[in-house]
Amino acid sequence: MSNAITAYIGLGSNLGDRRAFIKKAREALESTDGITGVSLSDITESPPLANMEQNRYLNAVAEIQTNLPPETLLKTLHQIENSLDRRRQEKWAPRTIDLDIILYGSQIIDSPTLKVPHPQMHLRSFVLKGLVQLKADIVHPVLSEPVSVLLDRLCGQDFALDSVKPQLVCIAGLIGVGKTTLANKLAKHFSVEAVFEAYDTNPFLPELYAGKHELALDCQLYFLASRAEQLDRQLLKAGQRIFCDYVFDKEMIYATALLDDRQLALYERLYRQIQDRPVRPVLTIYLTDTPQNCMRRIQKRNRPYEQNIETEFLDTLAAAYDELFRNWRKSPVIELPMERFDCYNDAELNHLAKQVALYTVGKTPKDEK
Ligand code: ATP
Ligand code: CA
Ligand code: CA
Repeated sequence: MSNAITAYIGLGSNLGDRRAFIKKAREALESTDGITGVSLSDITESPPLANMEQNRYLNAVAEIQTNLPPETLLKTLHQIENSLDRRRQEKWAPRTIDLDIILYGSQIIDSPTLKVPHPQMHLRSFVLKGLVQLKADIVHPVLSEPVSVLLDRLCGQDFALDSVKPQLVCIAGLIGVGKTTLANKLAKHFSVEAVFEAYDTNPFLPELYAGKHELALDCQLYFLASRAEQLDRQLLKAGQRIFCDYVFDKEMIYATALLDDRQLALYERLYRQIQDRPVRPVLTIYLTDTPQNCMRRIQKRNRPYEQNIETEFLDTLAAAYDELFRNWRKSPVIELPMERFDCYNDAELNHLAKQVALYTVGKTPKDEK
């Protein structure tokens, strides 16, 4: 076929003989004029999105070569769905077969009837797994990242854009890695608010860093109360982006590093009572850098009490953060090595903002429309 485009189709079924419907859809694609070279990924099973009470889904991804224009391809997919008994009901209703255009070459399409890349492909492990299996180095045309990297960001979970939730974006990482600066810059970019950790109002922190270890519990309790208040559901509005320069879960990392056994046991009892109350991020940006580089920034910004921080302490925190994000299932995680990212570079910041926009719901800044 001349001028063929490589496209990827998502297949899903959660009604009837699910495996048979996927097989029939594949055969229908193969016998369509203008489609050749169909290959199908493994079929995987996953729960329905957004915890809806429905059967589990079987999903797969097909790679095709096609010379059908995108809108024609979409019509063809709808015809195949109809021929396989798909009833169009409300959004995300159970279906015998669902066929979505995931990617069409590297084209970006944004029409009322067709959006490509599929607007939620980067949030669905079941789609990314199939793509990775077919070709791990396919690059997402808007996110500019290979699908294998997008898959790693999800830790095996599926997420859904949900405008009913506050669009909290948390920035995490070591002291001195650049969280506050980035939170500030992203908030400005989107003309929204940011939440900053209340380190300068914590009355115990300077004395703790000056060597008064007996104040460690007071200090951690102050932070715990302050962060729970800042990330309170009542304060954060649905559907509105807000940037925060910490993740709530860092509290346990610091408590474990700073408290003695008896203090930690008491702290944990309180922590367990409130850990589910703060708003969960819809996206986490994990900034990484060597403890040495963080140390350099700490020395440069010269907050007096921080000057007593030792590299070993940063090593401990770094290991705990890595562990936290190895198993992080609360949101997608964009890992950003600060040795390669400069948030003072407009192009790099704009690209990150574009990524944030795709993982969250909210108004697009005027200059990007
Ligand atoms: P989701 O898109 O979140 O996977 P869905 O597949 O259940 O949801 P449908 O009810 O099948 O949604 O489709 C609704 C409409 O989405 C279709 O009629 C189609 O016009 C539109 N649409 C937009 N972009 C795409 C795409 N890339 N692939 C398939 N349909 C799309
Ligand atoms: Ca779908
Ligand atoms: Ca669909």
